[in-house]
Amino acid sequence: MTVREGSLEAPTRHPLDWLNPQFYDESAALTEMERVFDICHGCRRCVSLCNAFPTLFDLVDESSTGEVDGVNKADYWKVVDQCYLCDVCYLTKCPYVPPHPWNLDFPHLMLRGKAIQFKQGSPTRFRDVQLASTDRNGKLAGIPVVVKIVNSVSKNETVRGLLDEHLGVHKDAWLPDFSAEPFRKNIAPSKPHSVRDGQRTPGKVAIFSTCYVNYNEPGIGHDLVKVLDHNEIPFVIAEKEACCGMPKLELGDLEGVKALKEINIPMLAKLARAGYAILAPIPSCGLMFKQELPLMFPDDADVQAVRAAMFDPFEYLVARSKDSLLKTDFQASLGNVSYHIACHLRVQNVGQKTREVLQMIPDTQVNTVERCSGHAGTWGVKSEYHEVAMKIGRPVFRQIGDHPKGEMDWFASDCQLAGHHIEQGLQAAGRETEGKLAHPITLLRIAYGLA
Ligand code: SF4
Ligand code: SF4
Repeated sequence: MTVREGSLEAPTRHPLDWLNPQFYDESAALTEMERVFDICHGCRRCVSLCNAFPTLFDLVDESSTGEVDGVNKADYWKVVDQCYLCDVCYLTKCPYVPPHPWNLDFPHLMLRGKAIQFKQGSPTRFRDVQLASTDRNGKLAGIPVVVKIVNSVSKNETVRGLLDEHLGVHKDAWLPDFSAEPFRKNIAPSKPHSVRDGQRTPGKVAIFSTCYVNYNEPGIGHDLVKVLDHNEIPFVIAEKEACCGMPKLELGDLEGVKALKEINIPMLAKLARAGYAILAPIPSCGLMFKQELPLMFPDDADVQAVRAAMFDPFEYLVARSKDSLLKTDFQASLGNVSYHIACHLRVQNVGQKTREVLQMIPDTQVNTVERCSGHAGTWGVKSEYHEVAMKIGRPVFRQIGDHPKGEMDWFASDCQLAGHHIEQGLQAAGRETEGKLAHPITLLRIAYGLA
């Protein structure tokens, strides 16, 4: 059979076959890895995306045959460990994704490997499970007395050394502070604006606050509320909220993902069916509802209803602008803004909506950087990966710091964790960052002149 180089049809993605017992069959998974790795070895387009592909190609090049058949299958797990499921290889590079007959889905094959590892139990399982329990950590660390201790202890060099040695959290990796006042407990209620539906946008919003915004940086959530209120969009907060499940997915804990889905989806589906646009201010959480849960539960009507109602905040605001319902009464310019588009937003295939909104602000020059920062959720803080995470981010740090119009006034990423990782990279390169990092929704609030 002749197999053409790329596919002419739009890429599709097959559901994740995780309920099939074969999914967890190690030998079947290794056979599939051998098939896929062989195609990748012949292609090598993804060599610069992350450390998974260089790890694979080094194994091949150093093998006795110089081919995939010369690589010890036990070493395949080294490739799995380097993948943090950003999805960029699938959605932006690979010509062999379905409907191409080679049917390649590199990230979901890596996810299968992680799920097998998780079931079997890995030496780092304790650390990995702790880091992925974002909701529980936030609840515990946010207790008023505890929060001060946790925040100061996480900056103590001796403690960080011990954490590095015994728990596998790299001593130099940036860790977020916890807030004593979670977003969901302190949110100002919506004003009684009337609902104005547009052609493309529901006129009322439900906020899925996300663990990070709720427990770590509630200011981002308050800024989102201010922007909605300024645009006279009434909002509610999703009534019961658990972690979206992305950290557990990245660990291969698919039963853990299912347990969280069973908390979130019923109430989010109710909101979707009641005509709300659901906004999640962290791209990974939005991606979970837009893509990963629908692929894990393709026949679940509630999951599909939530998928259809879920928006990235800037995707919503651009659609609102197209509906002629977004205010552009900006009071402040932002100057030179370096903006990093997060991988988990890129792969949502919605275009560069954050950039589009920031560019509406007068006297604002946006320098857009479209490349992986290397942080990747909890992956970049682990002792064994942090240095690689900094290395992957280096081109991003440079491009963010070198705004083509001169001195950078602000830098931002849709993913605030990536923003802090970039800040760490800029500081390591001796760049001045004091007061310059802000989430894009905060920049929009500033441009509107809202206190
Ligand atoms: S999903 Fe991302 S991290 Fe994983 S192999 Fe593809 S590009 Fe690399
Ligand atoms: S994932 Fe696709 S594009 Fe990337 S190296 Fe493999 S075959 Fe090539």
